[in-house]
Amino acid sequence: MIRGFTYQALPMRVVFGAGALARLPEEVAALGLDRVLVLCSPEQADTGKLVAEALGDRAAGVLAEARMHVPIEVATQARALAAELGADGCVAVGGGSAIGLGKAIALEHGLPVIAVPTTYAGSEMTPVWGLTEAGAKRTGRDERVLPRSVLYDAELTCTLPAGMSVTSGMNAMAHAVEGLYAPDATPIISLMAEEGVRAMAGALPRVVADGADLDARSDAQYAAWLCGGVLAATTMSLHHKLCHALGGTLDLPHAQTHTVVLPHALAFNQPAAPDAVAALSRALGGVDDPAGELWTLAGRLGAPRSLRELGMAEDDVPRIAELAVANPYANPRPVTLEGVTALLRAAWAGEPPAAG
Ligand code: NAD
Repeated sequence: MIRGFTYQALPMRVVFGAGALARLPEEVAALGLDRVLVLCSPEQADTGKLVAEALGDRAAGVLAEARMHVPIEVATQARALAAELGADGCVAVGGGSAIGLGKAIALEHGLPVIAVPTTYAGSEMTPVWGLTEAGAKRTGRDERVLPRSVLYDAELTCTLPAGMSVTSGMNAMAHAVEGLYAPDATPIISLMAEEGVRAMAGALPRVVADGADLDARSDAQYAAWLCGGVLAATTMSLHHKLCHALGGTLDLPHAQTHTVVLPHALAFNQPAAPDAVAALSRALGGVDDPAGELWTLAGRLGAPRSLRELGMAEDDVPRIAELAVANPYANPRPVTLEGVTALLRAAWAGEPPAAG
């Protein structure tokens, strides 16, 4: 039975396909932009240059300074440069860090952002921004930061190393998993979530086998698009709270942390989320235990499975558990200190996930 719901569609234009970068000048022109600032991470400076070249006269400059979690100093520098160059928009090429920097500029100056995502993190689909100041990350929602146009070009993802591809893909699936049991889940978003998990779980082994397999890369980007859309439309629960606490407090790497925590958070919630379990079982090929299947998949693809190997000390478990229960939030199963502590201990040690 379909229960009552409220669904708010977000304005979103997507240009999808290997080679889509060639359509970037059209997208920029369609938005009436003449001088766009290209943003990327230092590691992707070459990609940033490639994008600027594709734009010709419409590129005002390249800033290759994007960093994880958008430090306020980098945001301030980017905002000043955009003003100095008289930029009328930004093209953010890269993962969540580059797109996050574009959002930081949009938040202050209202400049439209065009996103060219090269990981599977999904930030390009959301109106969520983040800024980190004095070690604390603030996040918020603002439709001005939602990219006006998103170009998915699988060719740009072929350089994403296998390890990062897997953890980024697991990060994407985490959005879909939590969207399926979200308090504001809706039928259309649940379809996207199930299909996103199916497509990502199917694509990742092929991506790992051959990083230049454009079909596999396109399937993974299609999945990332769907999962990002789920993140934008629903309220995230225990899994995202835990990852936020682990990343913000201990500076653990974003995608890897999601990869380790997801099977454990899902195993914890599975007994209280039968519809989500049914959807994930279908998406993962008819398995009985989706959490166990995701843990096995991560292991088979060589991804980290313990917080210990990400550099977390066991002594930090109680602190993170307390943070995760400090403020109430919607979750299918009541979040208790005891339950979260057991979950974190298993994730820290790399044990198979258990409902607890
Ligand atoms: P990232 O953007 O930091 O990228 C990780 C590294 O991979 C960088 O060095 C980058 O240059 C490199 N890289 C990216 N694509 C590559 C490619 N195709 N080839 C070679 N190298 C490549 O990592 P991420 O996981 O994409 O993003 C994480 C950040 O995004 C976090 O700060 C997270 O909080 C944020 N995020 C925000 C939202 C949102 O809705 N606001 C959603 C998801 C993630």
